[in-house]
Amino acid sequence: MRKQFRQWIRTFFLLELLRGMQLTGRYFFARKFTVQYPEEQTPQSPRFRGLHALRRYANGEERCIACKLCEAVCPALAITIESEERADGTRRTSRYDIDLSKCIFCGLCEESCPVDSIVESRVLDYHAESRAELLYSKNRLLANGDRLETELDADRQADRAYR
Ligand code: SF4
Ligand code: SF4
Repeated sequence: MRKQFRQWIRTFFLLELLRGMQLTGRYFFARKFTVQYPEEQTPQSPRFRGLHALRRYANGEERCIACKLCEAVCPALAITIESEERADGTRRTSRYDIDLSKCIFCGLCEESCPVDSIVESRVLDYHAESRAELLYSKNRLLANGDRLETELDADRQADRAYR
């Protein structure tokens, strides 16, 4: 009986509504955490694991030596590499594909690479409209590296103590 009476009082005086309004009022004046993406961006670590890129040395030579460590370590089997010997006797990839529809962005490929060739950039706002577009070929990965090299190099320098 007493419980019912208390409930009636709460309903009659709209106490639950007032409590809800009190909570709304408190957050109305509190500091906002909503980020107006893409105009505003949240801070990113130099170790952010976004879109992949293949890097070159300053003289334009590809860093990748086709050792296939990244392919072997990839837990998602997302990397496919084929290699061949060049006329100068060095070994380079003739095919380097990453299937981003399989990739789980674990960063193991980047960690395993002995020459800092395959890296993950800070780029997160890429998109694809078909699965085929998520298959990044060697040319597309090299183009990413060429476009982002300044940032990639700065991030690797900033993070060198942890590598
Ligand atoms: S980030 Fe991980 S899952 Fe993606 S390609 Fe590299 S090793 Fe494979
Ligand atoms: S990207 Fe690095 S780990 Fe992968 S094959 Fe090339 S050199 Fe080896």
